[in-house]
Amino acid sequence: MADILGLPQFFWITLIFALGACIGSFLNVCIFRWPQEELSIVRPRSFCPSCKEMIAWYDNIPVVSFILLRGRCRRCAWRISPHYPLVELLYALIFVWFFTTHGFTARFAFNSVFMALLLIATITDFQTRIIPDEVSFYGILFAMLMSFIFPGLQNETGHKLALADATLGVLLGGGLLYIIAVVGDAMFKRESMGGGDIKLLAMIGAFLGYRFVFPTMFFASLLGSAIGIFLKLTRKEETIAFGPYLAMGAVVLLLWGDWLLQRFFPFL
Ligand SMILES: [Zn+2]
Repeated sequence: MADILGLPQFFWITLIFALGACIGSFLNVCIFRWPQEELSIVRPRSFCPSCKEMIAWYDNIPVVSFILLRGRCRRCAWRISPHYPLVELLYALIFVWFFTTHGFTARFAFNSVFMALLLIATITDFQTRIIPDEVSFYGILFAMLMSFIFPGLQNETGHKLALADATLGVLLGGGLLYIIAVVGDAMFKRESMGGGDIKLLAMIGAFLGYRFVFPTMFFASLLGSAIGIFLKLTRKEETIAFGPYLAMGAVVLLLWGDWLLQRFFPFL
């Protein structure tokens, strides 16, 4: 990667890392508040879930504050979940990684937003069994808009064609899981697939385009059966959230999709 605006690469990577950690901090707010529908993501300011004390800005610096406070609230010593700094650190690394591979491009923005939404969906589904509608709704809107403006994101040259790829992805992703849900409910006489999963695959279809919907389902099922069997044996969990596997499948396709499609799904 060459120097940008005459400033060395090291400067940009540090800046992007810090920015990524701040976005990660915002993702934590979404993860905490979106599943509880009455809470807004901007108001009130961050507070300690235990003593309800507002968190001062200097105690709210991504990753750094957690280390300085040794993982405890300054007022009531409540133990802060390590998932907060982990999400910040993970997202900062993802942000740097996409920046070093794509630079300041539409692809960088597209992939970064996609990963942010998948990260939120994965964690909320694990913790609360809810994939917030905000994830799928904003995701579909963003992916369709970006595809129309930058058709290259869908490997197309025409704007309308790229928008059609994304729209078909929404319909195919949502439709596929909707049919599976209806058939599953009839077969097992209980809810087999949540509405959140249906909307999540619709969103994934919008980002990756319709060609990647079936491969995403394929990898999600593969990962879901492998990890699901392991979880069942070790933790005796009854139901298993499917959202995280859809998200993992989507990440596989986002990173190696073109190669995998040529190799294993040449008919798509
Ligand atoms: Zn507290």
